[in-house]
Amino acid sequence: MPTDTNVLDITAFRLLSESNPFLLQFLEFSPDATLILNSQRIILFANSQAQEMFGFKEEQLVGSALNLLIPERFHEVHEQHERQYLKNPVRRPMGRERHLEFIARRRDNSEFPIDISLSPLKTAESTWIAAAIRDVTRQKQAERQIQQYAGELKRSNEELASFAHVAAHDLGAPLRRVGMVSQMIQDDYAGELDENAKKLFDMLIRSVNQMEDLIRELLAHSKVGAQNLNLQPVDVNGLLDQILLEFSDTIEEHGIGIQRGELPTVSGDRVSLVRLFQNLINNAILYRSEQPLEISIDAVKRGAMLEFEVKDNGIGIDRKNHDVIFQIFRRLGNDGIPGTGIGLATCKKIVELHGGRIWVDSALQQGSTFRFTLPVEPSSGKSQPRGN
Ligand code: ADP
Repeated sequence: MPTDTNVLDITAFRLLSESNPFLLQFLEFSPDATLILNSQRIILFANSQAQEMFGFKEEQLVGSALNLLIPERFHEVHEQHERQYLKNPVRRPMGRERHLEFIARRRDNSEFPIDISLSPLKTAESTWIAAAIRDVTRQKQAERQIQQYAGELKRSNEELASFAHVAAHDLGAPLRRVGMVSQMIQDDYAGELDENAKKLFDMLIRSVNQMEDLIRELLAHSKVGAQNLNLQPVDVNGLLDQILLEFSDTIEEHGIGIQRGELPTVSGDRVSLVRLFQNLINNAILYRSEQPLEISIDAVKRGAMLEFEVKDNGIGIDRKNHDVIFQIFRRLGNDGIPGTGIGLATCKKIVELHGGRIWVDSALQQGSTFRFTLPVEPSSGKSQPRGN
């Protein structure tokens, strides 16, 4: 039963709203269910949206304690919360306390999640609270669904990575045996094999080698994962020196021209970045045209990211294939150039795990420029390249 103070407060609010019709209109037209409460948590007013939301009539709400609209197990928490609020009654917008999930109760005892915004209304004697309430059932369902999808995606990615890893690893041993036995037959029975048999054995060995490449790259691809990233400052100049040294015989053999700008320090996983540059440079060499190959490597700063480019004057890539080539196992015609179709998928995985993106600018016979972004190493002020 309302106490005298509560009856006085209810009457005071009624008088206030009668003398100020704008106030009622304002509360009625609010898009949210709105309650006015006094400091005893007694409902002084409930707009029609609130009546509809909770399934109570106005006369059932006005004069009742707020607990009517709250499941019993939350009464204490809510009371504490409101006492706390009244000690420092400031405006508290919706969505502010994301860690608190408020649950409300309808007249039929069904429960639903709500978000509440509170505003203090100072009266001569005390402080009332205006509470705007929103049913967030749909939002919560969507959040839960997103969490569920994210969990499933993470699980299936992990399963896929471990499957690829195990499969690649276990396929290696029997394959090596096939290679070895073929080689032994060729060596031990050399005199007894005719030309045709030798050709068939050559084909067999080539296929085994190709399969070994495939397994090695698949294993490398499956090893690239967030948990394997060891982020640290990586001086790309030094990293490139090391990679170009590995390619030095090929560079000399084909008279390849290399141009490089002043390359920066990035925040990255050194092992993955070596693989990224190796793959791109290797591709530039593999897919060269008739003319002498020129490769240029440079970087430019773009905000918090560094944009790198690895440019060649090779056979180029038709515009319609610019996305396709980054998908795993996807290769273009390539005129018999051997490969696995994994290299660029690995590059994409590496760049994206670093928070960047990779793309290609190219046209057939016009050379290719592979561009990718990596995060700037925050502590390195030295030798960052030009840019905006
Ligand atoms: P792979 O080289 O083993 O086929 P990648 O994933 O590295 O696999 O490359 C996918 C395809 O993209 C290649 O088969 C090739 O057709 C094309 N490609 C990659 N790099 C270049 C390049 N620098 N110039 C022209 N084509 C390229």
